[in-house]
Amino acid sequence: MTKQSVRTRIGPVLLFLLLCGPALTARASEVQGQQVTSPEEFFGFQMGADRMMARWDKMVEYYKLLENSSPKIKVVEMGPSTLGNPFLALFISAPTNLARLDDLRQINAQLSDPRGMAEPQIDRFVADGKVVIIQTMSLHATEIGGSQMAVELAYDLVSRTDEETQRILDNVIFLMIPSFNPDGQIMVTDWYRETVGTEYEGVGYPSLYHHYTGHDNNRDAFQTNTVESQYVAQLMFRDWIPQAYIDHHHMGSYTARLYVPPYAEPIRPFSDPLVWREMSWYGAHIAYKEEEAGLSGIVNAAIYGGWGHFGFHWITPFHNIAGMLTESASARLASPLFIHPDQLEGGRRQLPEHEAQTTFPNPWQGGWWRLRDIVERQKVSAWAALDIAARNKETVLRNAYLKAKRQTERGATGKPAAFVISAAQHDPLTATVMVNKLLAQGIDIQQAPQSFTHEGKVYGAGSFVVSMAQPKMGVIRWLLGRTFYPVNSYTVDGQGNPIRPYDMAADVMAEFMGVRVDPVDQAVEATLARVTAPIEPVGEVTKGNHGYVIDGRLNHAFQAVNLLFDKGIAVRRVDQPSGEMLQAGDFIVPGGSDSDIADIARQTGVDFTALERDATATSRELERLRIGMYQRYYGGNMDEGWTRWVLEHYGFPYSTLMDADIKSGELAEDYDVIILPADRVSGMVGEQEPESRGPYASGPRSYPPEYRSGMGQEGVDALQAFVESGGTLLTFAEAGSLAIEKFGLPLRNATENRPSTEFWCPGSTLRTKFDKAHPLAYGMPDEGLATFLASNQAYEIEPTAHNDRIEIIASFPERDLLQSGWLIGEDVIAEKAAMVSVEYGQGRVVLIGFRAQHRAQTHGTFKLVFNTLLSGPEHH
Ligand SMILES: [Zn+2]
Repeated sequence: MTKQSVRTRIGPVLLFLLLCGPALTARASEVQGQQVTSPEEFFGFQMGADRMMARWDKMVEYYKLLENSSPKIKVVEMGPSTLGNPFLALFISAPTNLARLDDLRQINAQLSDPRGMAEPQIDRFVADGKVVIIQTMSLHATEIGGSQMAVELAYDLVSRTDEETQRILDNVIFLMIPSFNPDGQIMVTDWYRETVGTEYEGVGYPSLYHHYTGHDNNRDAFQTNTVESQYVAQLMFRDWIPQAYIDHHHMGSYTARLYVPPYAEPIRPFSDPLVWREMSWYGAHIAYKEEEAGLSGIVNAAIYGGWGHFGFHWITPFHNIAGMLTESASARLASPLFIHPDQLEGGRRQLPEHEAQTTFPNPWQGGWWRLRDIVERQKVSAWAALDIAARNKETVLRNAYLKAKRQTERGATGKPAAFVISAAQHDPLTATVMVNKLLAQGIDIQQAPQSFTHEGKVYGAGSFVVSMAQPKMGVIRWLLGRTFYPVNSYTVDGQGNPIRPYDMAADVMAEFMGVRVDPVDQAVEATLARVTAPIEPVGEVTKGNHGYVIDGRLNHAFQAVNLLFDKGIAVRRVDQPSGEMLQAGDFIVPGGSDSDIADIARQTGVDFTALERDATATSRELERLRIGMYQRYYGGNMDEGWTRWVLEHYGFPYSTLMDADIKSGELAEDYDVIILPADRVSGMVGEQEPESRGPYASGPRSYPPEYRSGMGQEGVDALQAFVESGGTLLTFAEAGSLAIEKFGLPLRNATENRPSTEFWCPGSTLRTKFDKAHPLAYGMPDEGLATFLASNQAYEIEPTAHNDRIEIIASFPERDLLQSGWLIGEDVIAEKAAMVSVEYGQGRVVLIGFRAQHRAQTHGTFKLVFNTLLSGPEHH
């Protein structure tokens, strides 16, 4: 088989490995003694050299060259990245291991899930198996050290012939993702090359460095919305459950030089304790090897706490993987940064000063800090993890077995015993989306072919059961169970101020998605069948005398409506319920070709049911609205990127509006709705740091003029004129302040200027009431959950002569708001509005105070956005 055949899509990877075993062995003998080209020869500079950055296309070429010249590396192309660049996985190991990769994968799978296996089998697997370690590079594309280092690491592993290297290759399958974000790698390299040698050299990338997610790509591991996350989830959660995983990042420039494992406090419970011990074990060896190499400034057990968001390195411990992180001090991309000794400081969490302590015995002394310093330290850390695992192969593999076995036992004896996902859901199609996301995590799910009764409740046929008696019980617990952030001396300081969690205080998938999940204390005894593949529901079509009805409670109904619009098929929306059949918010499709309707039902999973009565009087025809999405520079706005993802996924066409487009005025001629994603007013208007200018400028003014953000008063005026002449302005969370402050809306944000001791809600789910009779809340349940971040808003209406022109679409209840996360001072927002519509001239401003489409994860509240994008201001 030729080299080119290695280009293969994700599906056939394993088949390919199986088929190509013998071919790889044959190749091994052919290329023995062949010279391996060094990175320096290939790229023309040393990795990490000042002002030099290798670009992804050349790296891909280099990895393929390595594969051609060495039997110790195999390049697998997982498929295209979001923007169509190749996403690579490199398998590096001894040729004899690469020749039996599928066999080794199966041994690894048995150790990671030993249910039903006897001890002697385990002994054999421990003896025959190999340690699997995954390391990923430069997920955050401006954190360039990892992708540059990876080139040298791969070269060293395949070219060095010493005993230490041989031991690693013999005992470890090293699966390296040389760039977690190839698109971003290219964006940042091109940007850097454009600015190097100018006064803007080393300035950060001005937009999102992932097409949709930017920095938030690391918040996607549990929902796997991006293809990059999907590839890594397949490798790490399903095909290969590695024993250890390291994600290489950069941090700020002025604290330690390199953070290595383990994490600081607090940790998140419900993983096997061995996993935390393993992280300390790997981390100690990494730090030890750094000191041995004479590299200063290494800290462990500080700065990064063990309770983080569910990015890959923080969710892996609950997959029984020692999931770790390194964080290098940043230079200015590839340009050196001079740091005075007195500029160096401690970091958050257990590194109070930049002074020697047991976890930081050798502080760096200041001076020039270079990309090469980062590459060297990262390479030692990456290598050290491989080294210690190789020296202790059998211990590592036996512990993989022990973790899986003990977690399964805990799940079997603890409470809850299982989570039941009832077939009776407000939005059953979104429930299947959630089931598919759980399958992507490699979680075992069972489905009931018939209805059953459990703990006094009847569950319909098709209900799902997720038993806790499986190795991944920790993941299940956190994605489906209620979560309370710990409140203790690690999370609240001596003055009683809460310390911000690293990200969200809870990441409960079921709550975000609005899917009802019941924890049950006893194992479910009903007949169940294992779900073996993602569920792809196909909608049923039954034509009536007056066409079809689509259930307006389904998120996918909006996708169907957009597809109907695409085909020019008329759609109506029901405003008044009539009979059993029609609820306010349902969609009516009076006509359309049978094949178009069947196509859309198949694509969306939405049922088209028969409409037998004329409902023209109680419904109105919908028009496709013209949507504008505001976007700015200054690193881009992740909420904007995620919103684009949601709109595209559900078929809403939109145009992007940059500052210049907003300022050009006459917006009402081209748009019906303009969205302002969550953002600070100063960021949108461009008011921040007016004093910062010249060569020492910081913030937006440090960018070249064409990349400086801010629509200015001109832009604000244009938006105001747009609303006055009939447009809808939709604001998310803190962006609401732009309309309140600049347009003079009679609203007060109840959370504004509250000290954190008075009000604190850092990424929690809150019980919320919806007025589902209002067109903007059509299809919502009476009560649901809103995802609320620290900077989000709740509204009080100031008394004016026109209180009637303000409508409350959603509001918080009187008490017991917190479902999951952390909430201090619920009285501040209790009974306040969470979403309002304010008439303004001929148009209106719709303010959603919380994150209704947060990271494309909060499916439970997507409809509030979709409704606003489907109904003009005439429908108050
Ligand atoms: Zn990072």
